[in-house]
Amino acid sequence: MLKWNDVVHYAQKGNLSPDRRVEKTEEEWKQQLTEEEFYITRKKGTERAFSSDSCTLFEPGLYSCRCCDEQLFDASEKFDSGSGWPSFTQPIKENAIAYIKDVSFGMVRVEVTCNTCDAHLGHVFPDGPKPSGLRYCINALSLVKEE
Ligand SMILES: [Zn+2]
Repeated sequence: MLKWNDVVHYAQKGNLSPDRRVEKTEEEWKQQLTEEEFYITRKKGTERAFSSDSCTLFEPGLYSCRCCDEQLFDASEKFDSGSGWPSFTQPIKENAIAYIKDVSFGMVRVEVTCNTCDAHLGHVFPDGPKPSGLRYCINALSLVKEE
């Protein structure tokens, strides 16, 4: 199980290797994604809080990356953080997500991206529920729920 110490370690020392890599040009991503999905996943955008019903949906299932279909989160790790963004306390496996130190907006945060295709997902914070204590705060548009 990943904890905050692991997140800090990866953000500082580098991430695990993904199982596979998906690399496309900006034009190719634009063709595949809606304008809003492109802005969030490829330009590190943030959707408005409470813009998605996904925050309070907890049906079993898997969430994959909007861009490359890699599985990132299991619904069993989802919780209601009240933040207005879908929140998870653990990724599906340790090398699914990459951790990047983010000093934008005058804050020090840890950005989380898809380790397969570098899609921006959101940020991770150390104020999540036990036992991991992690809160992955994720844009709903960065994910696709597998049926
Ligand atoms: Zn991806």
